[in-house]
Amino acid sequence: MSDCLFCKIVAGEIPSTKVYEDETVYAFRDIAPQAPTHVLVIPKVHIKDASEITAENAALVAHCLEVAAMIAKQENLTGGFRIVSNCGADAGQTVNHLHFHVLGGKTLSTEMA
Ligand code: AMP
Repeated sequence: MSDCLFCKIVAGEIPSTKVYEDETVYAFRDIAPQAPTHVLVIPKVHIKDASEITAENAALVAHCLEVAAMIAKQENLTGGFRIVSNCGADAGQTVNHLHFHVLGGKTLSTEMA
């Protein structure tokens, strides 16, 4: 999508700090980290949010999670980590391209909502 921030990051039109990339998934450091490790894992194709997960793209979504787990190992998050995907306005989603936050490196808040 031409007006999507994360599509522009995937295309290299907006700079990012890459953590991982393969044919279908891109991962980069969040610009406003909320934990010592705060990485965003995204599918390269535009999927708006978790409400658009279907049987057709489920393997790609699972691959995003596989990459998230790999990054947690790479970042040495041995004490644990959190994977978050905000979906829609009530959840505070600000970028309308499916993304998984990978957060760790400190004791995280126990609040979920
Ligand atoms: P969400 O609020 O769940 O939609 O998450 C969007 C995330 O994207 C926020 O944590 C932002 O800090 C992050 N973000 C916004 N713009 C950029 C950017 N140019 N590079 C890296 N992260 C960004």
